Amino acid sequence: MSDDTTVTSRLLLVVADGVRPDVLAEELDRGHLPAMARLRERGGLHTISASFPSVTGPAYAPFVMGRHPASVGMPGLRWFDRARSLPWSYAQARSYSGMDIWHVDGDLDPRSPTLYDLVQPSLAGLMMIARGATHGRVGRGIGWSLRAGWAHFRGDSNAWRRVEQAAIHEFFRRFTRARPTLSMLGVLSPDKLSHAYGSDSTIVRTAIRDVDTAIARAQRIASADGWADGLRIWVVGDHGHAAVADHEDLHGWLSARGHRVLAHPKLGTRGADIALMVGGNAMGHLYLDPARTTRTWWPALTTRWQSTLEALLERPSIGLLSVAINARTVRVFHQHDGVADIVRSHEGHDARWSYAPIEGDPLQLGGSLPDLDANDAWLAGTASPYADALVQLSTLVPSPRAGDIVVSAARGWDLRARYEPTPHVSTHGALLREQMLVPLLLDGPVTRTPQRTTDVVPSALDLLGITSDIPFDGRSFLR
Ligand SMILES: [Zn+2]
Repeated sequence: MSDDTTVTSRLLLVVADGVRPDVLAEELDRGHLPAMARLRERGGLHTISASFPSVTGPAYAPFVMGRHPASVGMPGLRWFDRARSLPWSYAQARSYSGMDIWHVDGDLDPRSPTLYDLVQPSLAGLMMIARGATHGRVGRGIGWSLRAGWAHFRGDSNAWRRVEQAAIHEFFRRFTRARPTLSMLGVLSPDKLSHAYGSDSTIVRTAIRDVDTAIARAQRIASADGWADGLRIWVVGDHGHAAVADHEDLHGWLSARGHRVLAHPKLGTRGADIALMVGGNAMGHLYLDPARTTRTWWPALTTRWQSTLEALLERPSIGLLSVAINARTVRVFHQHDGVADIVRSHEGHDARWSYAPIEGDPLQLGGSLPDLDANDAWLAGTASPYADALVQLSTLVPSPRAGDIVVSAARGWDLRARYEPTPHVSTHGALLREQMLVPLLLDGPVTRTPQRTTDVVPSALDLLGITSDIPFDGRSFLR
């Protein structure tokens, strides 16, 4: 036995991909998740908001980098590289739901470190973002990708789950050997099954037990090797889920209006006047005049594109539609609820947001709101149908890699009827609360109420006693 009086803290962060906070709470209350129930007794289960777009890939940036995805160069699951900034891409288009998953780490801002960079030794298992992990990026090699990709394209969730179980096994082999100070493990079956069967279906509830099993396994390994005292375990979701019955063919609709549309998988379109990048599939970016290599603001585009915007807004599938008036101002439209500007002032932790309705109240925030800080901006949205809309839209829409028009689907809709390989009854990607809210299960008390997934990284550093001066978008809930 060691005579050390200090216990080294280690953190295992488990990502419960696509798990809804209400479903997780019900399963905990029913006694189906004993390992997580013990964590909840020591800490608590919180409901926090993801970053927009609420889709795997971009939505991992907050709890791996402490930044909103658009802040680190990942504006969507699919996006168009207007600036031609990527060293390699086909038709300047990215889709991380295909083989471009290999480019995720390289596409992110190299100046923004990951938690794996900051806390070593580190291990990543089935994580969409794994840059900097010193002891392996399990699930990211070519063999894993081919097996996972094959299961995905066949729409075979059971085959997917077998691949996942094999990857989890390999993750724990390395976890045992390396005793990483930081490890992150993604469990993706609940998301895959939610798309196929609904996010509160019995089969999804059963799959959530894989998260509990993984936690119990980590605790057994640490106990057997004598380091259980320092093992801290947190669980976070990346996005929510909501039932979808109607699938808009945005690609077909734009083509029927006479546009030449570049969109996955039709990337060979010559002379395209719109690059349409839908991902989630309940959100999309429209890049107008994609031959233009610099970003411009909406006022310069109205002559040619105002009628397209107005026609889009009339589609029942479109919930919110947003454009950037300038680098600090986003104009948001809703077909029935009106038009408003979101204005951001100052940078970093001094940032402030204002909401100025021009007509109606599109975000349903109850009227104009002046000069809110990050805390109050989040609180202002708690009664709205959208989560964290002020901060999310003002971060994404003017960002360098975003489209000129950003759409978030209406409730019950998604936007990619054509070319989606798997039939699905549930979706995500939009700014709607049910798609944005995620669980955060902590095994210890907090000092401040957790609000956003970006809060996880600065909090993890506090937990592990690591100081940094990195300008995260999130704020620690342990201070
Ligand atoms: Zn999904």
